[in-house]
Amino acid sequence: MFDKESYALFKFSQKINVNAENKRDLLDCALPALLELFKLDRVYFFDWQQERALLSLKLMCKKEYCMDMQEDISVLSEPEFLKELLRDGAADSTDLNYPAVYVLLKWKCPTMVIEGESVKNVVKTRVGVLRLERFRKNRVFTDQEVHLIKRVAAEISLQLTHTEVDQAKNRRLNTATALNDLATIFASSLRLSDGLELILQGVQKYFRFDRVRLYQTNYDGTKIKNIWGVDISGTVARQSGDDLPEDERTLLRDIFDSGAAYRMIHNVVYIPLQVQRNKVGFLTFDNLLSRRRIDYLDFVSLKQFSNQIALAIDNAALFERVQELSNYDELTKLPVRRFFNEKLNEEIYRSKRFDLIMSLMIIDIDWFKQINDTYGHQIGDWALREVSRVIRTSLRQTDFPCRYGGDEMVIMLPRTNSDEAKIIARRLKERINAIAIPDRYTDGKRVTLSISQGVASYPQDGKTGAELFEKADKALYWVKQGGRGTYAVYREVCDRLPTEKKEA
Ligand code: GH3
Ligand code: MG
Repeated sequence: MFDKESYALFKFSQKINVNAENKRDLLDCALPALLELFKLDRVYFFDWQQERALLSLKLMCKKEYCMDMQEDISVLSEPEFLKELLRDGAADSTDLNYPAVYVLLKWKCPTMVIEGESVKNVVKTRVGVLRLERFRKNRVFTDQEVHLIKRVAAEISLQLTHTEVDQAKNRRLNTATALNDLATIFASSLRLSDGLELILQGVQKYFRFDRVRLYQTNYDGTKIKNIWGVDISGTVARQSGDDLPEDERTLLRDIFDSGAAYRMIHNVVYIPLQVQRNKVGFLTFDNLLSRRRIDYLDFVSLKQFSNQIALAIDNAALFERVQELSNYDELTKLPVRRFFNEKLNEEIYRSKRFDLIMSLMIIDIDWFKQINDTYGHQIGDWALREVSRVIRTSLRQTDFPCRYGGDEMVIMLPRTNSDEAKIIARRLKERINAIAIPDRYTDGKRVTLSISQGVASYPQDGKTGAELFEKADKALYWVKQGGRGTYAVYREVCDRLPTEKKEA
């Protein structure tokens, strides 16, 4: 059989055993239950900051609801009261002119602390104080009541421990889920800069750091190539590593050299990114602006996540290198310059050997920079793809186009003289002039693309690839000078080129 006190305690614990999500939820439930059990007029909850001898008032409960409060009460001047509270777990008020009892709450809270190079899980004891008041009828608290109050406080403390442990577990789970989501996005974007932007924005958004930065280094970590930074607004900015001040460069080198897992310098956390022995870069973050403390759990999660970031950067860098080795340009699907030059040399050899003719055409998109600047790089990329598509679909099987670089394409036209090359040039000009930027990007205005072309022919304009390039480029220059949008063959314009450009 329960005695009366145990029964009351049992009922009380049932009432507050509600799977509260956090401390506040639990107190929201416990304080009104206290009011009812002891017929109180009011109850306060304080955080007990022992080292500062402060009671910091957090909550006040009256009738059925709790209100947030914010007030620090110094208890330094009352050593007797303090001693009693800490020794007995409860103490009568000394400062009030109505009956009130202070009672101690003590619970456990799992946290992480950084100790040197490692992060440890520790369980900290937290202390709070409740003040139970009866000011209306001035009914004093009996000894039995104080006894029960202490047992009830122990029960609340136990529940607080459970809640804190659950909360820590949930936070870990949430963090793991969020990081997993980020990793999935990252893994699916092979272009390094796209992936990095997403990941940095994700990290900033999820962890709410003031600043997150990523330094990309070369293989041995001696050179910073790029720096991506995201600020509190989520905006990503990219900066060249050459702009980095010398002292920061030295600092980063030191961190790599020391082999440290991380460094905290002036409240900025630096995490070196490494894949096996390859140095990849650094992830850094800080809360310098808001001066918020960096949460250990966030730190640990990011530390683990940084391995994935390092791997992804390494993958993307590998992809870029493979891309460079590939014969085709990713954006335009045209052959790349290196591949083209091989073919051109073969063709010139063949032309010499069998006495054949050929032409070389250079194409440059007009005002392309302006298209990028006005409509954005995505439209610029789209325009490049459209122009390349027209080029690819307007040529003979034996013609060989390439993306020479930027907005410049070159076409090799075997067994084609300059008159035939002009026909091709006119066809390309007309078809490319017919490409209009989708009008949803241009406020309904019709904006079309235009190209300038220069042609040189083998053998009369040049006998090597380099010579043909030089002459075709001069013809192109002549078109650009003349206002763009058309084509010229070198032989027809060489007399009209500016003197310093003219052949000796
Ligand atoms: P011009 O008529 O004299 O040729 O003027 P322009 O603006 O076309 O000048 P230029 O040929 O020098 O500009 C080339 C621009 O092409 C500069 C560069 O930002 C842009 N560009 C190069 N590669 C790419 C790319 O892959 N995508 C996009 N969107 N733009 C590129
Ligand atoms: Mg151009």
